[in-house]
Amino acid sequence: MLNQDHCRCGSSKPYSACCQRLHQQQQKATTALELMKSRYCAFCMGNYQYLIDTDKTGNPLSLADFSDQQPESWKGLEIVDYGDNWVQFKAWYKLGNQWGCIHERSVFLNQQEQWYYLAGEALDYQLPARNDPCVCGSTKKFKKCCM
Ligand SMILES: [Zn+2]
Ligand SMILES: [Zn+2]
Repeated sequence: MLNQDHCRCGSSKPYSACCQRLHQQQQKATTALELMKSRYCAFCMGNYQYLIDTDKTGNPLSLADFSDQQPESWKGLEIVDYGDNWVQFKAWYKLGNQWGCIHERSVFLNQQEQWYYLAGEALDYQLPARNDPCVCGSTKKFKKCCM
């Protein structure tokens, strides 16, 4: 199960020492990876204004676009690979009994020392097998943890 003391982005720090600083604009993301994690965490915390503020996809977003989001459905973030301005990740969610995943290669833009989400390419994914490590980042097997 998720460790409630750890930030939802998957770090071992508490939220207050991690993404909260970015969400409250006390600090800026210094890398594309850091911004990506803080955006995932914003989904988990229901902070949709942060997602709007860090979006440069060109589609004007409003809070209404997030009205069907369920923050508690997000179960884990897995960073697959990343570079200076891109991150490939798997964001796992569970709606009802149905598992799903956003496997995406996202591209980010740095503008005046602020990172923004620019574009994303959706990739295929496979659900973890019962004996695979759990998607939440615990070291337990999927079947013994969040499955
Ligand atoms: Zn965090
Ligand atoms: Zn788990």
